[in-house]
Amino acid sequence: MHSSTYPPYDLMLCGGGVIGLSIAYQSASNGWTVLVVDAGEIGKAASWAGAGILPAGATIEALDPIEQLRSLSHRLHPEWSRRLREQTGIDNEFRQCGGLYLGCTAAERATLSANQMWWDEHGIRVESWSSAELALKLPVVASLVESNTGLQSWYVPDDCRLRNPRHISALVAACERLGVTMIENTRIDQLKTHGDRIVSAKVGTREFQAERYCVTSGAWASQLLGPIGIETGILPVRGQMVLYKLDKPLFSMVINDGHLYLVPRDDGYVLAGSCEEEVGFDDRTTSEKIDPIKEWSMKTCPALTTANIERTWAGLRPGSFDSLPYLGTLHPFENGFIAAGHFRHGLHWSTATGLLMYQWMSGQKTEIDLKPFCVQRGQTLGTKLSTFKESKP
Ligand SMILES: Cc1cc2nc3c(=O)[nH]c(=O)nc-3n(C[C@H](O)[C@H](O)[C@H](O)COP(=O)(O)OP(=O)(O)OC[C@H]3O[C@@H](n4cnc5c(N)ncnc54)[C@H](O)[C@@H]3O)c2cc1C
Repeated sequence: MHSSTYPPYDLMLCGGGVIGLSIAYQSASNGWTVLVVDAGEIGKAASWAGAGILPAGATIEALDPIEQLRSLSHRLHPEWSRRLREQTGIDNEFRQCGGLYLGCTAAERATLSANQMWWDEHGIRVESWSSAELALKLPVVASLVESNTGLQSWYVPDDCRLRNPRHISALVAACERLGVTMIENTRIDQLKTHGDRIVSAKVGTREFQAERYCVTSGAWASQLLGPIGIETGILPVRGQMVLYKLDKPLFSMVINDGHLYLVPRDDGYVLAGSCEEEVGFDDRTTSEKIDPIKEWSMKTCPALTTANIERTWAGLRPGSFDSLPYLGTLHPFENGFIAAGHFRHGLHWSTATGLLMYQWMSGQKTEIDLKPFCVQRGQTLGTKLSTFKESKP
C-alpha cells in the first residue's frame, strides 16, 4: 500500500467504529484527506452491538466534564442526523422518544428520587408518574403495574434513541462521498515512532503514512499504545443483547430498569440488554446472562413473550478506569492522538468527540476543555500501580 516519504493523508484513524468514523466525517467535511483502517468490518464491533440510547444532556452550563461532553453531543445529534440524511438519504432513526425509568424496588426508587434532583439541577425535564398514569400512558407494562403495587416511574421527555447500525451506514456513506479512504480487515500491528513523532502504522510488511495518527480502536486501544510506552486504563467490558421482533411497534420510548433496558425500533424490533462483564476479548454470548435478560424483558413487557427472538449477541465496550474517555494528544508524540474509552456512551458521545478531536488536532480552540480527558491520567495511574506492585512485600 502507501509507503511514500511524503505523508499522503492529513489524518489516519486507527479503528473504524463510530468514534473513528465521526472524526473522519468531521475532518473530511473540513477538507482534510482521511484514511480509516479497521481490523475487521468497518463499524461492526461495539458500535454495531450497542443499543443507541442517548440520555438527555444538561440544558444549563455544566461544570462536570462528562456532563459537558454529554450536553454537547446531545445538542449535535439532531443536527448530524439531519445532515447525514440530506447527504446520504439514510435515516439513522434518531428519535426524541423519551425515556422511562422504573423504580420497582425500594433501592431503585431511592436512586431515582436522587436522580430527580440531578435532572432538576441540570435543567433536564422530568415527570414523576404514578402507577395509574404509567398504566395509562404505557399499556404494554400494565401487568407490571398490577403485580408491583409500590412501582414508581420517572419519565424524561428529552431522552433520545438512535438506530446505530443505520447511523454507521450513514457515516460510511457520507465519508465515501467526502473521499475518505476506508480499508477493512486490516489490523494495524504497530505504530512506528521516531523521536517525538509517529512516522507510520505498520500492517505486516506494509506501512501507512499520514501527517497525524489517531488511535480509535476502542476496547483494543491498549494493544497499539502499550508498545509505544503509553499506558491507559482502557479494558474490554462485555455486554450482551437480545433482539425481539414484534408484528408492529407497541411503544416508542426507551424503558430503563437499573442496568436493564428495552429499546424499540420504528419497525417493531425491540432490543433488550444488558450486562457488564470483564472477560477479556471474548465476545461470545452466554445463557447465564442472556436468560435473565429474556426473563426480565418478558416480565416487564409481556407482549414480548409471543415475539420472535431474532438474534442474540455480545459486544466489547471500551471501558476506562475512571469512566472518562481519552481525548487528546499522545504525548510525547506531537502528531499522535487518541479518542477511545467511551465505555457505555460511545454512540452518544461520538458527535462531540468528532467535533472536539478535529478542533484539537487542527489547533483550534475546543468547544469544551479537554484537559480532564488527557491520556496522562492513565500514565499516572500506571505509575501508581507499578509503584504499588513493586512496594508489595
Ligand atoms: C451491549 C452494548 C450496548 C451499548 N449501548 C450503548 C448505548 O445505548 N448508548 C451508547 O452511547 N453507547 C452504547 N454502547 C457503547 C458504545 O457502543 C461504545 O462506547 C462505542 O461503540 C465505542 O466506539 P469505538 O469506535 O470506540 O469502538 P468500536 O466500535 O469497538 O470500534 C473500534 C474498532 O477498532 C478496530 N480495531 C481494533 N484494533 C485495531 C487495530 N489494531 N487496527 C485496526 N483496527 C483495529 C475494531 O475492529 C473496531 O472496529 C453499548 C455497547 C455495547 C457492547
